[in-house]
Amino acid sequence: MADSTSFTCVSCPLGCVLEVTFDDAGNLADVSGYTCNRGLEYAKQEAVDPRRNISAVVWADGVLEPLSVKTSSPIPKAKIFDVMEEVRALRLQAPIDSGQVVIEDAAGTGVPIVATKSLA
Ligand code: SF4
Repeated sequence: MADSTSFTCVSCPLGCVLEVTFDDAGNLADVSGYTCNRGLEYAKQEAVDPRRNISAVVWADGVLEPLSVKTSSPIPKAKIFDVMEEVRALRLQAPIDSGQVVIEDAAGTGVPIVATKSLA
């Protein structure tokens, strides 16, 4: 029996409600509810491999100012906890440049974590 689910497209503020249907083998069979190609691509990705960008605040030794970091591209949703554990365990030393990689391969996702600002 075919299965279906719906979710809101977060690719733009319009927030179209997307519906995806899977065939009996569990493969993506149909997408509806999108208004543009961006929404169609988002639905395909979200249905089979949901991903999220992560941002966090970390600290460098001896510096009172926090450092914001983020994933350089979305990571699999199932890996969020593992990535946050690695971010939490970071021990950084200033100076750090904006865009500098602080974790090269976050939790085996292949996605780097980068600083979003500089720290002197
Ligand atoms: S389907 Fe297109 S128009 Fe609708 S929310 Fe997504 S990006 Fe925006």
